Amino acid sequence: MKEINSDLIERAVSLADEHLFPNALETDRAGEVPSQQLDLLRESELYGIFSPVELGGLDASPKTQWAIIEALSGGCLTTSFVWAQHAGPSKAAAETTGPMRERWGRALATGEARGGVAFAHLNRPGAPMLLAEPDGDNWLLSGSAPFVTGWGHIDVVLTAARYEDLIIWAMIDARESESLSSKRLSLAAVDSATTAELTFTRHYVPEATVTAIETFESWAERYKTGLRANGSNPLGVAARSIRLLGSSPFEEQLVEAREHLDSATSEELPLARAVVGELCVRSAAALVAQVGGSAMTIEQQAQRLAREALFLLVQGQTIQIKKNHLQLLTNK
Ligand SMILES: Cc1cc2nc3c(=O)[nH]c(=O)nc-3n(C[C@H](O)[C@H](O)[C@H](O)COP(=O)(O)OP(=O)(O)OC[C@H]3O[C@@H](n4cnc5c(N)ncnc54)[C@H](O)[C@@H]3O)c2cc1C
Repeated sequence: MKEINSDLIERAVSLADEHLFPNALETDRAGEVPSQQLDLLRESELYGIFSPVELGGLDASPKTQWAIIEALSGGCLTTSFVWAQHAGPSKAAAETTGPMRERWGRALATGEARGGVAFAHLNRPGAPMLLAEPDGDNWLLSGSAPFVTGWGHIDVVLTAARYEDLIIWAMIDARESESLSSKRLSLAAVDSATTAELTFTRHYVPEATVTAIETFESWAERYKTGLRANGSNPLGVAARSIRLLGSSPFEEQLVEAREHLDSATSEELPLARAVVGELCVRSAAALVAQVGGSAMTIEQQAQRLAREALFLLVQGQTIQIKKNHLQLLTNK
């Protein structure tokens, strides 16, 4: 695995600049991501970056993945956000020794199938929102997953449910049934990424679809170090605003914020993430100010980027990132 695969990153940058960005306003308003956009990502093999070569993937290093996520997010966050959900199920299918590797591994690596995730509810304090109850060797899921992006665009959703101090991870078909219903959310940004709330009512999950069972504690530890990847979303949106602004002190601030994020330990990551979130909001706001009144028209990229910057304050936000966001945003 090359630490940095420049050809692959260049491919993502070209796709973002030549196709995603010119169509981003239309995608933002379309109500869903046009299928051609996702097909372009598949044809560019970018669905394969999260999967190993033996399954037909490209096995991109974390650094290469981060740069690709940043490039695509700066092209069209809505399209990129739907695509980025694919990482979770791709990795789960590749890492499991169970039947889900055979069922989904290759299809996800090639982009023939698309995946999403339902796990952020694990972070909520209080009683678990989605519970798994044993049913012989199988499981019954009850409760809700408040945010599942790509619903309608995806074939499978990697879902996390709690059983005592364990997390049960399962690959669930992304379609409604008597025991699985969806309610689409109406969002002020990235609405076309079709995010839904899922409700499970004793939803049957065969043992064969379970990819892993782990303790909540071990997941929480791993999650802390995984916060680097989705920092690439605000980096991408900030980079686009900064490019549109022209020469400004933001250029240096972006480089510093990226370096800070790249070198942060898991303890330093919440602050590094918040610095990027705040930079993203400030640079998008500066772009609005620079463009002037017309920035508020729906045909302007500035208003889209500003709405996306606000969304990125909460997407993937943990209690520690939130504290840092609030501190930075309330500082003069
Ligand atoms: C449009 C959109 C799409 C999304 N898509 C997906 C998706 O596809 N899949 C997915 O899994 N997630 C998805 N998410 C979830 C996303 O990652 C969450 O935004 C993130 O988890 C933060 O959510 P929250 O602010 O509601 O806080 P939560 O983590 O849900 O917590 C709720 C509240 O409790 C507080 N809190 C949290 N932990 C603690 C604690 N230990 N002690 C005290 N208080 C605490 C938080 O500050 C927060 O205010 C999506 C979110 C959005 C907005």
